[in-house]
Amino acid sequence: MKTEAETTWSTAQSEELYGFPRWGSGHFHANTSGMVTVEPLADGRQICIKDVIDEAVGTGMQAPFVIRFQDLLRHRVERLNLAFNQAIKEENYDARYRGVFPIKVNQLREVVEEIVDAGAEFEYGLEAGSKPELVIALAMHEGKDRLIICNGYKDPDYIRLALLGRKLGKQIVIVVEQLSEVDHIVALAKETGVEPVIGFRAKLLTRGEGKWASSTGENAKFGLNTAEILLAARKLRKANLTDCVRLLHFHIGSQVPNILTIKKAVVEASRFYCQLVKMGFPMGILDVGGGLGIDYDGSRTNFESSMNYSMEEYASDVVANIRDICVTADVAVPDITSESGRAVVAPHSMLVVEVFERISKRESLSVKQRPKKKHKVVKDLEALAESKTNLGRLERYHDALQRKEEAFSLFNLGYLDLENRAAAESLFWQICEEVVRGDRDTGFIPEELLELKGMLADQYVCNFSVFQSLLDHWALKQLFPIAPLHRLDEKPSVDAILVDITCDSDGKIDSFIDLEDTSHHLPLHPLNGEPYYLGVFLTGAYQDIMGDLHNLFGRVNEVHVFLEDDEENGFYIEETLQGSRIRDVVNGVQYSHNDLSRRIKKLIDAATKRDEIKPREGVRWLELYENILETKTYLNIERPPKKKPRKKR
Ligand SMILES: *Cc1c(COP(=O)(O)O)cnc(C)c1O
Repeated sequence: MKTEAETTWSTAQSEELYGFPRWGSGHFHANTSGMVTVEPLADGRQICIKDVIDEAVGTGMQAPFVIRFQDLLRHRVERLNLAFNQAIKEENYDARYRGVFPIKVNQLREVVEEIVDAGAEFEYGLEAGSKPELVIALAMHEGKDRLIICNGYKDPDYIRLALLGRKLGKQIVIVVEQLSEVDHIVALAKETGVEPVIGFRAKLLTRGEGKWASSTGENAKFGLNTAEILLAARKLRKANLTDCVRLLHFHIGSQVPNILTIKKAVVEASRFYCQLVKMGFPMGILDVGGGLGIDYDGSRTNFESSMNYSMEEYASDVVANIRDICVTADVAVPDITSESGRAVVAPHSMLVVEVFERISKRESLSVKQRPKKKHKVVKDLEALAESKTNLGRLERYHDALQRKEEAFSLFNLGYLDLENRAAAESLFWQICEEVVRGDRDTGFIPEELLELKGMLADQYVCNFSVFQSLLDHWALKQLFPIAPLHRLDEKPSVDAILVDITCDSDGKIDSFIDLEDTSHHLPLHPLNGEPYYLGVFLTGAYQDIMGDLHNLFGRVNEVHVFLEDDEENGFYIEETLQGSRIRDVVNGVQYSHNDLSRRIKKLIDAATKRDEIKPREGVRWLELYENILETKTYLNIERPPKKKPRKKR
């Protein structure tokens, strides 16, 4: 039987609760059957994510999955380019937008291929920040008019690769980050006879804002300060390479939450650009780097997981500010490049995790403990629990906290037995529950009590690794929108935090998006014996690729989904990539799975000789070991078979 609250709950309320309309950019919704849907092109065609999961599970895969919506990726490339083209038209800007995708934000082949394909009609190029990335960019890049921008520290081989690009007829720009690179470029240009195209990366005084603020500004590790740019200019003039300098670049960090910071940086860089033109360099391109944000929490503020501007506003501010400065300086406006990575790829992929267990403090601690001989501290706590005294909630909490500490000291000194300790613990949490429950009707909740609410939350154990799949949440406290992918027509009645299966207490998610600041728990549904899937959204940038093999969990399964009108569900799975097997990850840390098997066989043989294992049994144990090497690293969740309902007579 459903309670009234459960029956009156609607998916619209879930949509609001989990914030789909705020962070989803029109791509994510809940339908009337309580399922989350994705609308890759924002054109009305929706895919039910649970259908994708069911189809993947039908082919023998298990969560965790990464699901990529390739059409959504394409849509983002188009939206960025259209935003700039529109701004250029509206501002009567007399040059082009020629953006590049920074490969480091998602190096996966299918992602880069889709972007290169979607960008063909916009002359959208690629950016590399290292030799391996340039190796990819050179081979994957197409077209004569699309840029390749080479950033990052460079050794002579990096520069040689870029010169190879020139020989292949590509528009490839070597951006000077360090003064020493100028000497290499000069020498290699002479050696190979290839004329390079050169850019300067300027160290702006305008500092980024947000998580990367401290890595920008005067003390940034990248870029040339004013004196160094002048020195570089002199060196190039001496080598007769003045005509090769075509681009000015800056990058003030990723996820810039405040549009004012962006405007300031663009103004400073435009002034720089005009000065370089006046010094006699041909120039022609101003590269505004990355920084275009994603509104992860949907608050549209300058909070670090959000942004106070839209992609369209960004484009028109960049265009208008460059134009204004150039017009006043009487310099022809440049082509504009941006290296927006996060904004292009973050929305296209999501992580699906399965919850397989609920750990509830409430349940174990609600059992009444009756120690044979009650210690005084337990009696004190009992009095506190019973007295619905006039103490304020916070005061009552603090008193309980003090008694709990007292009980622990007594236990450590040997004055409290296990029964009394258990009694003290459950009384303490019982008081906490009451204190928190008192909150329901009042508006303002002190921070301390909010945290307490998080501490009382149930733990939902999910079959995944934070360190593999959500590295930025662990390392940078980056927030991602998280919501159940089904049952949204039921009221979520459990306050929970999420924990992963690594043996690391940091392997958890206990901060969630909220309109104000962050929330310490997520409302979820009670488990009902069926698989319960959660989606972590907007994960396509950076962590998609940075997993760190903590506990050797390795890559997760992946499915690549395309819209398809002729299919029953409106989609098809184009490709599935299998996640890491155990043999893959052990081989990755320098073992050989064959050698490991041999060692186990030896041990089994020895045990057989000692008559501790029967020969036939030994064969089976070895088979088990070898079969497990071929399986996936994540938990293989086996649910107990459902009991058949007894027939009523
Ligand atoms: C990382 C990086 C980018 C991408 O930044 P986003 O904020 O993800 O768009 C662009 N340019 C350079 C030089 C970078 O290092």
